[in-house]
Amino acid sequence: MYTLGIDIGSTTSKCVILKDGKDIVATSLIIGGMGTPGPTDALTQVFEKSGGLTKDDMAMTVATGYGRTRYEGADLDMSELSCHAMGAHHVFPTVRTIIDIGGQDAKLISLDERGRMKNFLMNDKCAAGTGRFLDVMANILQLDVNDLGAVAAQADNPASISSTCTVFAESEVISQLANGVTTPNLVAGICASVSSRVAALAKRIGPTPDICMSGGVAQNDGVRSAMEKALDTKILVSPMAQLFGALGAAYYAFEKAPK
Ligand code: ADP
Repeated sequence: MYTLGIDIGSTTSKCVILKDGKDIVATSLIIGGMGTPGPTDALTQVFEKSGGLTKDDMAMTVATGYGRTRYEGADLDMSELSCHAMGAHHVFPTVRTIIDIGGQDAKLISLDERGRMKNFLMNDKCAAGTGRFLDVMANILQLDVNDLGAVAAQADNPASISSTCTVFAESEVISQLANGVTTPNLVAGICASVSSRVAALAKRIGPTPDICMSGGVAQNDGVRSAMEKALDTKILVSPMAQLFGALGAAYYAFEKAPK
């Protein structure tokens, strides 16, 4: 039996096809979230990569993410909190806390030993502490967002970014650049700024180990290592981290499909 999970985020669209609730058959990730061709392209790509499967072969489709209600091909839509928890659980069964940093929000999710969401906290009011902040800063520094982690690793004296607002932090970065602060030191400061905001959220939920990151920002090693320092703990990261929502949706589709 094949099931499909589609995660339509603010910034990206992701799909996962599962066989029998176990094996990952194909995945896709397209830049472009709700209101763009992203979801359609992600579906086209995942079926292309599946070796000939079509939507008709899917026993059940679950949509999740910010734009989940917009996808008419879904049999069911579910919150991204539940789907991230289930996706993370299947990759890291010992995980009890997820730090999910996406394109426009950050969420702290606590989960039980079966992958069910128990509690959550969310920042969706302010761009600081989200992928958006990193995207804006990468743009100012003329860097690719994918390279921020590697650039931060070259820092010898990370800058301190004191502004709590993305707009003010933008001016602060420009003025520090003009004052001769190196790009690696600025990038390390920017990553530390995001992680300190999210770590404050994490401390409010009382993060129980094991802890993992999910969402696109999980791929930024600069944010992950700053977060490890801020929380004084090890944080697990998988190359699948950005797909956890779609993966969890595909697992839920298997669980809910008529057998
Ligand atoms: P959403 O689900 O909200 O659409 P994602 O979880 O896909 O968002 O995360 C998107 C964010 O992840 C982007 O804003 C960007 O900052 C970050 N990101 C995406 N890919 C990478 C990468 N390869 N390296 C570092 N950061 C990344």
